[in-house]
Amino acid sequence: MRAIGIDIGGTKIAGAVVDELGQIVAHDRRPTSASEPQVIEDTVVAMVQHLSAGQAELGETVVAVGVAAAGFIDASQSIVYYAPNISWRNEPFREKLQERLGLHIVIENDANAAGWAEFRFGAGRLVSDMVMLTIGTGVGGAIVSRDTLFRGGFGAGAELGHLRVVPNGLPCGCGAHGCIEQYGSGRALLRIANELADAGGIGQALASVRARNGLLTGLDVSALVEIDDPGALAALRTLGSSLGQAAASLAAVLDPQLFVIGGGVAQAGDKLLEPIRLAFLETLPARGYHPEPEFAIAELVNDAGVVGAADLARHYAETI
Ligand SMILES: [Zn+2]
Repeated sequence: MRAIGIDIGGTKIAGAVVDELGQIVAHDRRPTSASEPQVIEDTVVAMVQHLSAGQAELGETVVAVGVAAAGFIDASQSIVYYAPNISWRNEPFREKLQERLGLHIVIENDANAAGWAEFRFGAGRLVSDMVMLTIGTGVGGAIVSRDTLFRGGFGAGAELGHLRVVPNGLPCGCGAHGCIEQYGSGRALLRIANELADAGGIGQALASVRARNGLLTGLDVSALVEIDDPGALAALRTLGSSLGQAAASLAAVLDPQLFVIGGGVAQAGDKLLEPIRLAFLETLPARGYHPEPEFAIAELVNDAGVVGAADLARHYAETI
């Protein structure tokens, strides 16, 4: 049984037909106009119709559609309470799509969809309990417990980026202070790298790129990490240390077998995992009395959102 996954991003909408093994058999991609919700709805409908028609020609049937988007989705996966990038407020998106498409629809938070894809087909496929931390511009999260995606009572759970790690710390976009997003995200890595460059000392190459380009960009830092520049690696260690401490708090509550680290910053691989693991072990309470989780880099990268959304939709269609 095939399902369609749609991932509504800030600049584009990605769509794919996904089979039951998590393989993408057809895909589509169109630009997003974030300020126009009706255009987004129309684009999603057009993509689903286009992808479904392609399957019909092959004699295949599409059973359901999963739509992933950033924001708070209600527990019944129908209503977008709030989306940060699109002016949706209490948007009954599932109902609207169902009326126009006549297919089973589920709406899912994008980080949850990506985490589910890793759990089913990626780094987490051999465990029952995992936590995913997506280190992009911000910090996203997903929790799978006993083979089930954790959503919380109102559907707004697993916002792991807003776990407080520093009391009265840096202000966060969510309105609180000291969230891990301010210490463990791609944006935080840039802040730390620029501070290190300004302070001098270990950041020789960091400082010279900073002086040449003005503020360091994500590309500058990843290029310096790539060549093992001591300043860039120090910035990455600081970032990893915060993430490791947050992971220890999460482990004390959730007891996962595995942490999966995804997002653009995870391309640093072991250079990021090592400081995370180190800080995690230093912080983990009651060490030595229970098995400890592993850490792994996400495997599905860009396709996780569409693959996870499609698989969740297929599960939904199979259970009703
Ligand atoms: Zn926050």
